[in-house]
Amino acid sequence: MSAVVYRAPMINPRGANLYDAWIDGGLRVRDGRIEALGDFDAVMRVGEAHDRVETLEGVIVPGFADVHIHWVQHPVRGAFEEALMPWLREHIWPEETRYADQDFARAAAQRFFADTVRAGTVMGMSYSSAHAEAVRIADQARVGDWMVGDVVMEHGAPEALTRASVHEAVELDRRASGLGTERYVVSPRFALNCSPRLMAELGVYARVGGFHVQTHLSESPGEIREVLREFPDAEDYTDVYDRAGLLGPRSVLGHCVHLSPREWAVLRARGSWIAHCPSSNEALDSGRMDLEAVRRHGIPYALASDVGAGPSHSLLHVMQRYLDAHRAAGVAVSAVEALYRATLAGAECMGRDAVAGNLDAGKRADFVLLPAPGGQLDVEGWIGEWTRGGMAELEGRPLATWIAGARHDPPAAPPRTASA
Ligand SMILES: [Zn+2]
Repeated sequence: MSAVVYRAPMINPRGANLYDAWIDGGLRVRDGRIEALGDFDAVMRVGEAHDRVETLEGVIVPGFADVHIHWVQHPVRGAFEEALMPWLREHIWPEETRYADQDFARAAAQRFFADTVRAGTVMGMSYSSAHAEAVRIADQARVGDWMVGDVVMEHGAPEALTRASVHEAVELDRRASGLGTERYVVSPRFALNCSPRLMAELGVYARVGGFHVQTHLSESPGEIREVLREFPDAEDYTDVYDRAGLLGPRSVLGHCVHLSPREWAVLRARGSWIAHCPSSNEALDSGRMDLEAVRRHGIPYALASDVGAGPSHSLLHVMQRYLDAHRAAGVAVSAVEALYRATLAGAECMGRDAVAGNLDAGKRADFVLLPAPGGQLDVEGWIGEWTRGGMAELEGRPLATWIAGARHDPPAAPPRTASA
């Protein structure tokens, strides 16, 4: 098979403030994998005569990873303004009961993946509704490299969404959907929906089976108060999950906005990841994650949209809210780091960084083309430029998205009617 060499400026994040960039870059792709990356002339020197060169108008960066998103909330993203607990009880749980209807679920899944690919997202971790069939539907409609899990709720939610045992809650669902550890993620919704016994069962299930775990931790003050009332024996919110054995290096904890020094230390000791959701925290007025503490404790984190509390599935929008929120608090963050947190860090969080997450040779050819700002190579300035604008603008900003070497162009604009 011959290869394609894409010629364009390129940025390849390699760490929090570490990257390579080329104003005249070359990216050789063969059979969906990246074979070489670097200066265009250097890439051509090691190529073969029949390689095809395609010059692109724009800048190539890795495709985005979203490590905390509820695909079943996509239709109502940003639709309700409330604090966390009333938002869940009054709006979100009734919405999620609709996914018992498979036709509804199929249409929603197709729309979700069309929208995420359009916005440049190539991989991620998603919460589904409580329905086993909806997990299977999401996996069948999947475009890109996704893990998905049914939210496990035992009590404290509408009866149609709750299940009582780990057998009912997970094993059955996984068999029904036929997914393995690469695709299925064990997803207790959060402490307020689960008994200690069920959480412990889920912890064993995930550890023995080698599954990732995702849940919500310490998002809003009201939620934390309820958790401490419900688990009087626990040291704190983090301890509820720690006692259940739910914290490990394959655990991804959404939010972590209001943690104590003891809790940071526990997360660090367990090697768990944070899914940092700045746009969601802003939308529900939950507070700002203490980025200085996260850095001090050396806890790994990746960015995530948390749609539907997050109002947009665009990782460019999440990067914008991340930069604004922390800078407003006087914390230094670079646009270069934002790009890393929205790409390679997500792949690391998912355990996929050996095969995806940036443009290194040998990885899957997942990348997006962003508009060329022109002028001299200015990586910090260019990334800053791409994160400017409103949500709709940011969702539509990537000019094209490649997943495993296959190009996904944005859908053509709808035809204008005569009267328009
Ligand atoms: Zn969430």
